[in-house]
Amino acid sequence: MLTQRVMDPKLEERARELRTLLQKASIAYYVHDAPILEDSVYDRLYRELQELERAYPELVTPDSPTQRVGEKPAEHFPTVFHRIPLYSLENAFNPEELEEWQERLLRVLGRAPVRDSGTEGELEYVCELKIDGAALALTYINGLLERGATRGDGQAGEDITPNVRAIRSIPLRLATADPPPVLEVRGEVYLALAEFERINRERRSAGDPPFANPRNCAAGTLRQLDSRVVAARKLSFFAYALHWPEGWPAGDPPQTQWQCLQQLKELGFPVNPLSQVCRGLREVIQFYERWRGAQLPYASDGVVVKLNSLRLQEEAGFTQKFPRWAIALKYPAQEVPTRIRAILASVGRTGAVTPVAELEPVPLAGTLVSRASLHNADRLRELDVHIGDTAIVRKAGEIIPEVVGILKELRPADAVPYSLPSQCPECHTPLVRPPGEAVTRCPNPECPAKLRGQLQHWASRDALDIEGLGEKRAAQLVENLGVRTVADLYRLTPEQLQGLEGMGSRSSQKLVQAIQHSRQQTWERVLYGLGIPHVGVVTAQILAGHFPTPELLAQASAETIAQIYGIGAEVAEAVVAWFADPAHRRLLQELQALGIPALPQQENPAVSQILAGKKFVITGTLPTLSRQQAKAWIESRGGKVTASVSRQTNYVVVGSDPGSKLEQAQQLGIPLLTEAELLALDPTGESGDLHP
Ligand code: NAD
Repeated sequence: MLTQRVMDPKLEERARELRTLLQKASIAYYVHDAPILEDSVYDRLYRELQELERAYPELVTPDSPTQRVGEKPAEHFPTVFHRIPLYSLENAFNPEELEEWQERLLRVLGRAPVRDSGTEGELEYVCELKIDGAALALTYINGLLERGATRGDGQAGEDITPNVRAIRSIPLRLATADPPPVLEVRGEVYLALAEFERINRERRSAGDPPFANPRNCAAGTLRQLDSRVVAARKLSFFAYALHWPEGWPAGDPPQTQWQCLQQLKELGFPVNPLSQVCRGLREVIQFYERWRGAQLPYASDGVVVKLNSLRLQEEAGFTQKFPRWAIALKYPAQEVPTRIRAILASVGRTGAVTPVAELEPVPLAGTLVSRASLHNADRLRELDVHIGDTAIVRKAGEIIPEVVGILKELRPADAVPYSLPSQCPECHTPLVRPPGEAVTRCPNPECPAKLRGQLQHWASRDALDIEGLGEKRAAQLVENLGVRTVADLYRLTPEQLQGLEGMGSRSSQKLVQAIQHSRQQTWERVLYGLGIPHVGVVTAQILAGHFPTPELLAQASAETIAQIYGIGAEVAEAVVAWFADPAHRRLLQELQALGIPALPQQENPAVSQILAGKKFVITGTLPTLSRQQAKAWIESRGGKVTASVSRQTNYVVVGSDPGSKLEQAQQLGIPLLTEAELLALDPTGESGDLHP
């Protein structure tokens, strides 16, 4: 019985939309050299279309981007038909896909599967860096450059010979007395990164839009109508393929890709020196790992893996679009598209409400990403985010992933617009957005999400460092044991904790011990743990250095705090506002009664940080101290010595024969000190560390 498979109209719609977007992107990329998508985003959407077409072959259309190489040549250059077509390369995005490719290759070659051990009997490959530029086909007749052409759609390209002649590293004559009658050389035209930056600098200063990346700049330059522009832009070239359709003059022609590369060098072409012969995939992966993330003077987006033997290459042959004997193993992407399944409003310890997208999990820069930040209400509106949209997600360094764009072309008909709720999702208090601020907040001080976040922050490694008090435990303490402030933590007993899910008697004892142990932490950690807006680890250190107790900081005015080197007015105001809140004052009193923070005994008053945050400049010769000694004395008390006078300078120490710094200090009205006055800044009067 024949079973008729019914095509889901949603899939049909998706395939149609993907095709349209990829076609548009492809024209922007190949014809206008001005991409509208990141390559990694294009690659992933392309892969999605490919998979849809594989599952439902009836979806394939002849104009699908999966069925064609590049784009048709543009009109302003004569069209040339390639004697030997230029193919694209299949992509692998991880080592597993590379293995699958090898398995397919072995099947085509009629060989048994191999175990990768880097030994005899395994396939031999040449690994080359995939240079991110534009493909170029060169034809030499009897040793002379006859023609240079772009790849175009692989069958026909643009004749750009005058521009190719302007590229210095491409030989006009082959370096051999006995050239083959026809030689076809293929390679990549690229721009060195330094040259790319120079060109963009020039464009910016001329008011022209800069190029998006070196590839587009190289491709755009190759297709310039004025060859003088090409000559001025210093394109470079690496040759990587060689064909001799009408025979080899004398001796044996190359038998392997490696020999082709050596031959290209001998004929006078630049060949990338980092290529290597690898036996088996294990060595291939080692090569890939070696160059992944390497700083090179040109852009490379992966490694091209090619069967070394030309005989085996011929046996393997081509698909409609790719050689079967080669593949590009691409470096991991920083930006990928994926679908937004839902959006949640997450409430942090300060009450800030962040919209977070729940994503269809997608691999990104080494991890599987399933959530990404949408930042705030303004960003939501700017991006016009709908649930069901395809979002572009980026991960830069260690920062949590964020949604940086929405592919509106791929928005399904049933996508639902989203905006932040008007009530806190945790405690249902109406949310507020103070005028002029980007952040929407829950104003309820008892909001469980805030309390949880505060406990967790207090327990974090840079704050009080309480092991065993993570997100889940903090939620239990708030919900089940009524913990409201960080001070409540210190009244918890093992018996109370034992009632919580997942807590036995040992773990309860341990957590109570860890909490009690944290009472010995320093003031700077406590200050950071209080979670005052804008007070990170470093700011907490500076403030604690300047105001050695909570009382001193609580009494300081915003002006005094703002004068400290490294602290701005915004931080100063946030600190003052925090201490002005009666609830916070109560909390500090409670903590103080618990002996938190543990204030250090002044063991050696001579090295107190009395000058913390102060900036000094020294000019002239001091009566008793050398420059080095004066500097060491200041720095050992937390001060800083800088070379030049600015508005940030607190004091200028003046000796005999002062330089122009004295004048500058006088102009700026900066207090001047003699050596004696400097030493008097430390009321302990200790100066023994200066004159042993
Ligand atoms: P490709 O860049 O994936 O790979 C083939 C090309 O690699 C060859 O034509 C050659 O030019 C180059 N190459 C570099 N070093 C090489 C080496 N050592 N040996 C052999 N070839 C080498 O090919 P493609 O077919 O031009 O295009 C597909 C890719 O282009 C996609 O993967 C995508 O990243 C990009 N693209 C991007 C957009 C966009 O909107 N951003 C649109 C279309 C295509």
